[in-house]
Amino acid sequence: MMFAPRLTVDLGKIQHNAATLVDRLGKRGIFVTAVTKAALGSPEIVRAMLRGGVAELGDSRIENIEAMRNADIAAPMTLIRSPMLSQVDRVVASADVSLNSELGVIRRLSAVAKRAGRKHGVILMVELGDRREGLMPADVKAAVREILSLPNIDLKGLGTNLACLSGVSPDDANMGKLSVLVDEVERAFSIHLETVSGGNSANLIWAFKSENTGRINNLRLGESILLGREALNRQVVEGLHTDAITLVAEVIESKVKPTKPDGALAQTALGTYAAAKDRGNVSQSLLAIGVQDIDPAAMMPPAGTEIIGCSSDHLVLTSSIGNLDVGAEVTFQLGYSALLRAMTSPFVTKEFRPASVVAGLRKSA
Ligand SMILES: *Cc1c(COP(=O)(O)O)cnc(C)c1O
Repeated sequence: MMFAPRLTVDLGKIQHNAATLVDRLGKRGIFVTAVTKAALGSPEIVRAMLRGGVAELGDSRIENIEAMRNADIAAPMTLIRSPMLSQVDRVVASADVSLNSELGVIRRLSAVAKRAGRKHGVILMVELGDRREGLMPADVKAAVREILSLPNIDLKGLGTNLACLSGVSPDDANMGKLSVLVDEVERAFSIHLETVSGGNSANLIWAFKSENTGRINNLRLGESILLGREALNRQVVEGLHTDAITLVAEVIESKVKPTKPDGALAQTALGTYAAAKDRGNVSQSLLAIGVQDIDPAAMMPPAGTEIIGCSSDHLVLTSSIGNLDVGAEVTFQLGYSALLRAMTSPFVTKEFRPASVVAGLRKSA
C-alpha cells in the first residue's frame, strides 16, 4: 500500500549527484560538505550522499545533527548556522564544528567544550556582500586573536555565505577577498587555516568556471546534490539528475468547470486576491495536498497540466490531456522551497528507491 502524498526518493540518483560534484570539484581542489537540512537529516539520504564520497555533513539545525548521530552516522558534522546560546551544550555534544559570527557564542562554546573535555571546531564567517551572517572583513583579525586564546576551540578556518538573502553572486572579486583575508590571517598569527568554505550551491558556476579559485577549498552543497540545480539561476548542473526527489499527490476530484469565478470577489484563503482569467470550461482536478505541505510556486507539474491555484489542503490542476481519474497519482518535480516544506510536513510520507523510476503521470489501478 502506497500512501499519498509522498516524496519518492531515488537514492541512486542522489549518490550520483553527490559523486559527480565531489569528482568535479575535487579536480579544482574543493571538497564537499553535504548539507542535509532539506532532507531533515534523513539517514537514508545522508548515507546515499556519503556513498557518493562527500567528505562531511552540514546542517543548520542541531535536531537534525542529533538525529544523524542517533542513526549511528559517524561522518564529521558541522552546524552551518551560528549556535543559539541556549543550544551550545547540544552543539558541543553532537557537532564537531560550527559556523560562527559572534565572539560571545564562541566564548560559550569554549567554556562548555572545556567542561565536557572536548574540542570544538570553529569556522569564522565573513560578510562579503550578501548581508546575512558574518563579521565585517575589517573585524576578522581581532576576532581571530581572541579565538586563538580560547581553550578547547580549534579555529578551522574562514567561511562566507552569499546569494541566500540578497542574491549576491559569488565571483572572483568576493571569493578573492576571502582568499586574501585567509593569507593575511595566516601571516599575522603564523597559523594554517585548513578550511576555506566559499559558500553553497550558488557558488558552482563560479567554482567550475573561475581561472583561479584561490584558497577556497570547501563548498557546502545541499540543493545541487538533492535537486541537481545551482542556486543562482536554478540552471541544471550538467550531468546531474533533477528528479532524484519527486512528489506524488492524489486526485480527489475531477470535473469540467468554468475558469471564471461566479460572484463578488474578495480575499482568498491565504489572504491574496486571485487573478480570475476567463478561459472557458476546463478539465480541472483537485489534489489532496496544499500549502501546509508544499510551495506551489516551486512545483513543476507534468506536461499538459498546469497549477492554477492552491489553498491549505487543495491544489488545483488543469489538464489539457484529458480528465484525470479520481485516485490517479500525479508526480511533480520540485524546487527547493517545495522540497523543504514537503520534507517537513508530517502529512507527506517518504518512499526510498534504490533504482530509477520514470517520473510523470500514473493512473490508479
Ligand atoms: C542552506 C545552507 C547551505 C546550502 O545551501 P544550498 O544552496 O542548498 O547548497 C550552505 N551554507 C549555509 C550557511 C546554509 O544555510
